Amino acid sequence: MTNIPELFGSMVFDDATMQARLPKDVYRAMKTAVRDNKRLDINVANVVATAMKNWALEKGATHYTHWFQPMTGITAEKHDSFISPIESGKVIMDFSGKELVRGESDASSFPSGGLRATFEARGYTAWDPTSNAFVKDNTLFIPTAFCSYGGEALDKKTPLLRSMEAINHQAMRILKLFGNDDVHSVKTTVGPEQEYFLIDEEVYRRRPDLIYTGRTLFGAKPPKGQELDDHYFGSLKPRVAAYMKELDEELWKLGVLAKTKHNEAAPAQHELAPIFTTTNIATDHNQLTMELMKKIAQRHGLVCLLHEKPFQGVNGSGKHNNWSLSTDSGVNLLEPGDTPHENAQFLLFLCAVIRAVDEYQDLLRISVAGAGNDHRLGAHEAPPAIVSIFLGDELNAILEAIENDASYDAPEQVQMKIGVHVLPRFPKDTTDRNRTSPFAFTGNKFEFRSLGSSASVATPNIMLNTAVAEVLSDFADQLEKASCFTTALHDLIRDTIRKHKRILFNGNGYDEKNIRELEGRGLLNLPTTVDCLPHYLKEKNIRLFAKHGVLMESEIRSRYEIHLENYCKVLNIEALTMMEMTKRDILPAVSEYTKKVCDAAISKRSFSPALDCRFEEKIVNLLSACAAGIVEKGEALEAAMEGVQNAGGLLNQAIYYKEQIIPTMNALRAVVDEAETLVASKYWPYPGYGEILFSVK
Ligand code: ADP
Ligand code: MG
Repeated sequence: MTNIPELFGSMVFDDATMQARLPKDVYRAMKTAVRDNKRLDINVANVVATAMKNWALEKGATHYTHWFQPMTGITAEKHDSFISPIESGKVIMDFSGKELVRGESDASSFPSGGLRATFEARGYTAWDPTSNAFVKDNTLFIPTAFCSYGGEALDKKTPLLRSMEAINHQAMRILKLFGNDDVHSVKTTVGPEQEYFLIDEEVYRRRPDLIYTGRTLFGAKPPKGQELDDHYFGSLKPRVAAYMKELDEELWKLGVLAKTKHNEAAPAQHELAPIFTTTNIATDHNQLTMELMKKIAQRHGLVCLLHEKPFQGVNGSGKHNNWSLSTDSGVNLLEPGDTPHENAQFLLFLCAVIRAVDEYQDLLRISVAGAGNDHRLGAHEAPPAIVSIFLGDELNAILEAIENDASYDAPEQVQMKIGVHVLPRFPKDTTDRNRTSPFAFTGNKFEFRSLGSSASVATPNIMLNTAVAEVLSDFADQLEKASCFTTALHDLIRDTIRKHKRILFNGNGYDEKNIRELEGRGLLNLPTTVDCLPHYLKEKNIRLFAKHGVLMESEIRSRYEIHLENYCKVLNIEALTMMEMTKRDILPAVSEYTKKVCDAAISKRSFSPALDCRFEEKIVNLLSACAAGIVEKGEALEAAMEGVQNAGGLLNQAIYYKEQIIPTMNALRAVVDEAETLVASKYWPYPGYGEILFSVK
């Protein structure tokens, strides 16, 4: 039996390890620097580096790497060995404080969205000591942020850390007003629930579309999908269970708090949820989780698909970003309390989130956008593209009472005066939990449900933290100059509800009628990546990020470009893959099978002219029509692709992909899928949906 407490974090240079291995004064200096967000003194860094290296060598490390998160959304690493030559011609294993704290990296091949044109190609990585170093694959991994020499962020971690600092600063102002003198810092916490598909590797290898694009570009609907709901929370198949066990153990070694695992709605779909932690650590851990999910699958003859929509007509995969704020004294600021004082504070933070989501709907939408997630959001799956907040009946009723200065139908009929009365109790995790809401309050945290399964959680949290920081800053400005705090607080909460209640919505988000209602309230419906991305550059958004020091205008522009570029590249690869599959596999297969059926008819006729050949004739007719359709749609796609270059400008190119290429791809897919239902399975070049989805026993 594995001793899990012993296994947990065994490959992490964590606090306990540091305490055990660092001289007391160095340990204290390091903790203080981390707490106050200060640069580490080089002498201290040298001692930490040596201790870290010695520990890593014991864990089998030969190399170290500054591990960073470029704007590709995945992680990057460059490995350096610890070896250092000495005079005798031998080497020693060496690692200095300088090497720990800062690394140089050639940034030229990472997307920089134009930043490269104005600044040097080289970038540097800077240690993020708030996220622990760890050993994996005989390498010491040092979590870092990645910047250009001009100081611009070339990664997702730098702005994430900046946004955490911004919300910390503003939340502290609010907490001071409430007299919380024991609090020194506020951190945002995140628990990302990760969905994924597991399929057999042998089946995967026969699907070029999965290999090149992560999703199936063709595939007729199988006779059985998820309609029986027999997979959701069903018992785990032995291969899947063995995979999950190993995944848990590997994650635990790296200090990732993997907690829950279960089957999801679609066949072959599963979920892993960790226990929440500080946002930047949760982001690092989610990256490790995705990486290990893929790697460990290989050891089990499986492939893990993290694409948002691997199979048309089957539920796609998302990621739920559970988010809250917590003080260093251990108080969850989105947890309703027991005293009037705690309640008032809770309501104020709740209102800050409500207003932030309302005012920055566009940024939240952008933060989950991408070619893959476009198949889910706004396409009748998961949450709709339009952002709204679900609070639940009880909390809604409370807010309504506050809004109208009316009495809430609580145990005793009292008119709620914030800061004076206790909030009526309401059940935390009610069964009426709305699964269709993009942004739901779930008792003591918000759950942002629109994220795609493959994306980093960094960007959604950058947006959320910064938007909430902005509202808190405005709240603090107002309250700090109020002559009567309680009255000002009451009015602020009431007025915020009045002004921003349009974002609150308890109905079913799938219903077309409800979408129209939300649009009628003036909420933004931005169904696709191309629709939402231009909002990035709105003046209010540029102002927001600049004010809180999270992103400069040049950094926003670069992110906007990289995002658009990525969208175009994904669609380009998908279209090219479709054309190749059509020409090289699908049409030859249709033709071969047609010949086979013709041959059958000919031999039947020569055997006896009286034999009935209606089946063969019908199939040959249908197949011939299909083949003609495939050729025609394939040519249409080819012709459309030639037009991409003439679209002029990146945004126009993206629009062209959305408006011209995607519909043409869909038309081609429709005829090919039709052909798949006609061709004998042993002639069809690819494993079908049934075989893929039910491949793992
Ligand atoms: P479900 O959404 O499936 O009902 P839970 O409500 O138990 O599951 O929690 C889902 C996720 O929310 C878990 O990853 C959990 O750690 C996380 N979570 C719980 N509390 C917080 C919090 N205060 N801040 C951020 N995430 C949290
Ligand atoms: Mg959830």
